[in-house]
Amino acid sequence: MSFEKVVKEASETYDEVAELCSGLTKFNSAHPDGSTVECVSYIKKYLDKHGIENEVHARDPNKPNIVAKINGSGVRTILWAGHLDVVPEGGHDAWRFGPFSGEIAEGHVWGRGTSDMKGACAAGMVAARILNENGGLENNVEFWFTSDEEIGGIEGARWLAESGRIKGEVCIIGDSLGGGTESPGIDLGCKGGAGTRLIARGKTAHGSTPYLGDNAIDKLLKVIPYVMKIGDFKLELPPELAKPIKTTIDFYKENQDLDTPEKIKAVDRLFDYPSVTCNMFNAGIKSNVVPDFAECVFDIRLTPGSKPLEVKARIEELVAEANVPGVEAIIRAGETAGYYESPDSNFAKQLETTVEKIAGKKPIFKILTGGTDAVAIKKFTGIPCLGYGPILGGTAHQPDEKVRISDMVLSAKVYAGFAYAYKG
Ligand SMILES: [Zn+2]
Repeated sequence: MSFEKVVKEASETYDEVAELCSGLTKFNSAHPDGSTVECVSYIKKYLDKHGIENEVHARDPNKPNIVAKINGSGVRTILWAGHLDVVPEGGHDAWRFGPFSGEIAEGHVWGRGTSDMKGACAAGMVAARILNENGGLENNVEFWFTSDEEIGGIEGARWLAESGRIKGEVCIIGDSLGGGTESPGIDLGCKGGAGTRLIARGKTAHGSTPYLGDNAIDKLLKVIPYVMKIGDFKLELPPELAKPIKTTIDFYKENQDLDTPEKIKAVDRLFDYPSVTCNMFNAGIKSNVVPDFAECVFDIRLTPGSKPLEVKARIEELVAEANVPGVEAIIRAGETAGYYESPDSNFAKQLETTVEKIAGKKPIFKILTGGTDAVAIKKFTGIPCLGYGPILGGTAHQPDEKVRISDMVLSAKVYAGFAYAYKG
């Protein structure tokens, strides 16, 4: 009974979620500052106004986190987590509405962080209010609004999880591309990485007599193509991920702008092979000085369930094959990459049923290419994490970022409904 009631109430929050998302977007919480002070005080005001128990947790006073607590009669606690920090907005000219305008137009809220992920935060706030007003809950529910997700959760989820503040049985991550009612989806997990840095050392000389030096840029350029070959290293993956990987690829083909055969091929290979891209390059001090130092950084992403240490060993082999003296590879890789939950777990099955009832269509299970707060929560607490939320495909981290208001409403329905539906 209560499931239907809260879902119905959540379906009537169109204006409220739009307003809350717009309000959050107006506070610039972009990195490098990444301050969540204003967002947290905005959420606190809302929670206090509606009589919802809440606590602010901060190690860095500039990056507070806030939790809303709804007390049920039972012992189980369901968690929800979403982040309030956003990536930098880039040049303001690229934006149709200002990046911090929070403009409500054409069925969307516009601005930096609307999709990733103040929209889900607005849905979480509304769900907390509805659950608090309805009562009669068996499960305890905690909505965590965090800082620092975009830089690894240092003062946010990572600290909260590591310090034992985050405790519960299961966790829904709002940072997710839920696919609306057209193609509903639940994230089972996300990729991890094998961050790789190449450092080349040479000998400096006057730019007019390069033969007297040993150019570090030349050396680095010779080794980079070898590291790129890691993109052809076939990963060994757990069989239970075969179906979610297939559905994820189909989902991307439907939701991403894949306008060339190369892009389609890249998506087809996205999980069976590492993705690799050289994203930073640092070398040289002056145009007439032969550089004695050069470095570059690769972003290498691995499917959960694969073996990062094997990838690390292969990269070391490739660098050795390049055979350029004075070039060193520093590779960060652990035992596991990212994380995933089994699609057959109780949690996954019950969230699947909830989304199906509310969205009117069976959701697919998929794997995220990027990381979320789930990585830290899973790593430090072991709590299973599944993603569901209103991120709109192809908009996160882009100019003209926007979120669909109807998707926020849908998320609020799922967050509220699941609090009643989950039976452990
Ligand atoms: Zn995010």
